[in-house]
Amino acid sequence: MTDTDTTRIAIIGGGLTGLITAALLERDWATENKQKLGITIFEKSRGVGRMATRYRKPQTDSAEEWQWAMGVQSFSAKSDDFKHFIAPFIDANTLVPWQSRIAHIQSGHAEILADSSIDTPKHPCYISSPKMTSWGRAIAERLTHTEIQFKTRIAPLTDSAVNQQGKTPRTELYDEAGNSVGMFDWVICTAPNVQAAELFADTSFAAKDKISAPTMQACYTLMLGWQDKAHLPARLQDKTRQWSVLSIADGILDKIFIEHDKPEHGHLLPSVTIHADNAWSEAHVDEAQDVVRASLIKAVQDVLGWDAETAPTHIDMHRWRYAATTDNPLTPVPLMDVQKRWLVTGDWCGAGSIEACYQMAQASVTRVIQPS
Ligand SMILES: Cc1cc2nc3c(=O)[nH]c(=O)nc-3n(C[C@H](O)[C@H](O)[C@H](O)COP(=O)(O)OP(=O)(O)OC[C@H]3O[C@@H](n4cnc5c(N)ncnc54)[C@H](O)[C@@H]3O)c2cc1C
Repeated sequence: MTDTDTTRIAIIGGGLTGLITAALLERDWATENKQKLGITIFEKSRGVGRMATRYRKPQTDSAEEWQWAMGVQSFSAKSDDFKHFIAPFIDANTLVPWQSRIAHIQSGHAEILADSSIDTPKHPCYISSPKMTSWGRAIAERLTHTEIQFKTRIAPLTDSAVNQQGKTPRTELYDEAGNSVGMFDWVICTAPNVQAAELFADTSFAAKDKISAPTMQACYTLMLGWQDKAHLPARLQDKTRQWSVLSIADGILDKIFIEHDKPEHGHLLPSVTIHADNAWSEAHVDEAQDVVRASLIKAVQDVLGWDAETAPTHIDMHRWRYAATTDNPLTPVPLMDVQKRWLVTGDWCGAGSIEACYQMAQASVTRVIQPS
């Protein structure tokens, strides 16, 4: 690949926005451009997908395991474009429809659980199978003009890294050790907005002020495991429980998910994921983690009603520092500096959902393919 006949695009972040951006660029590039395409995704962690992830805990003495989708649980597909994009992954069984059964209670009223009515989602919902990371990996595997550099944290950009001497500007990116990772015709940043703000803080990026506009809230995730179904508390027993998702209003918890109820998850040891309320999580984000954990466990015990015999055998907690956006979607998207050919985007520019990742990717690809 030479620099003269190839348009080189850097994508910062290998979450779903970054991966879908690469996939749509590869899909739409050839019809609009004569130049070759070379994409590099820079991801600071060791894997793709970030918030679309799972945590597993194998048993030491058997092949059985607990598994929790600790970030996104499932996602909906509303637009025809997005449905079209996910169709091949549904055909390949990487995405599986999930018709969850949702019960609703007010905090402190778990006694009405057995009588509460059951809803189902308004739009088709999907989970990634066999685990939440599978879809991100499947998107990555289908990319043919993209390399992914893991464990590479891009350092904050500077205006002086933009070379304006050719027909179009090119930006040199560096990793955090100060090593150059290449020159690029376009830079698309898909990091969460607080991290994106840090990356562009010392630049004259045209839309810099808007990066910090959406307010992000945290989310604590609690992951519970039981040794077998016989030891589940009565409210989680299959014979008494109608719901697979329990939504709890006005308390510190938001939702409880039964992982072993999901399609193709029946082999799991009993695994239950709990997302705390976003506002509560944000208010307690810097509190001592053992205090937060104790509060959450107490709240979940109040709902599920376990005793010494039916208490979970395994408990883990994760803190998502930037989990949900509380503001209206930004317009226009992506945030863009046309002169430098820098784009800043991510689910936080939209509704903070997987479908928003797709919408943001689509908007970025349109701007790169037709910049003016
Ligand atoms: C608890 C929770 C529950 C959720 N529930 C739902 C749901 O039910 N339905 C739904 O649709 N969505 C849900 N979501 C939201 C969904 O997970 C996100 O919308 C989506 O995963 C965001 O993807 P992204 O690529 O925009 O961001 P991210 O997944 O955050 O990816 C950004 C990537 O950038 C990388 N990065 C950052 N800075 C750098 C740097 N300097 N150099 C290199 N790499 C960098 C990060 O490591 C990360 O991998 C939930 C999220 C959470 C946390």
